[in-house]
Amino acid sequence: MPRYTASCHCGAVKFAFDAQIDELVICNCSLCTKRRAVMVSVPRDSLQILEGHSALSSYRWNTGQAHHHFCSTCGIYTFHQRRIDPAMYSVNAFCIDGLDVSAIPLRHVDGRSR
Ligand SMILES: [Zn+2]
Repeated sequence: MPRYTASCHCGAVKFAFDAQIDELVICNCSLCTKRRAVMVSVPRDSLQILEGHSALSSYRWNTGQAHHHFCSTCGIYTFHQRRIDPAMYSVNAFCIDGLDVSAIPLRHVDGRSR
């Protein structure tokens, strides 16, 4: 599986993971709508925070089961642990170094009604 690195805007948070990125996911829940998140699915075990663990803040809402992580300095959403499948993270596709998002198909998921 290819290895990717990613970071927030200010560079305080850097992380890496292994994933097969063959689609991007966009979700219609109220949080994803407001943050305009486009995400990739990453096995939780493979994600490693390289720098800035203490810079990460997290936001919980609704059932509180999902942990939405973002940089406390620049505010950029980095990744979150999913509510429905806690073994997976969703990563902000635009944080990934060198990823050409225009070349990857986009899938819409109905997070609003789940
Ligand atoms: Zn930052």
